[in-house]
Amino acid sequence: MIIVRNSAKCKKCRQEAVSKHVHDFKSCLCGAISVDGGREYLRRAGNFEDFEDTSLHAVIIGTIRHDEDYKKALEGMKALDEVIKEYEAKLV
Ligand SMILES: [Zn+2]
Repeated sequence: MIIVRNSAKCKKCRQEAVSKHVHDFKSCLCGAISVDGGREYLRRAGNFEDFEDTSLHAVIIGTIRHDEDYKKALEGMKALDEVIKEYEAKLV
């Protein structure tokens, strides 16, 4: 499983904290919740009852043996970026 987006929304202030890379420790506006780890790990700080997890995870199935497989994998990643953009647009 890969972490596509590491984020959580605070139930108190309704602001979303997004960690974009390792050691990118981000808190919400009121400071009740924090996220960290980017695409490497999911770290949370705060009370779990204050979290609404908005992270996205993906599972890649397949093996890269040829250049053609690599091209397909890249296309898949581009498609995934579009999914993330659509997802983020709905959150606003
Ligand atoms: Zn908050």
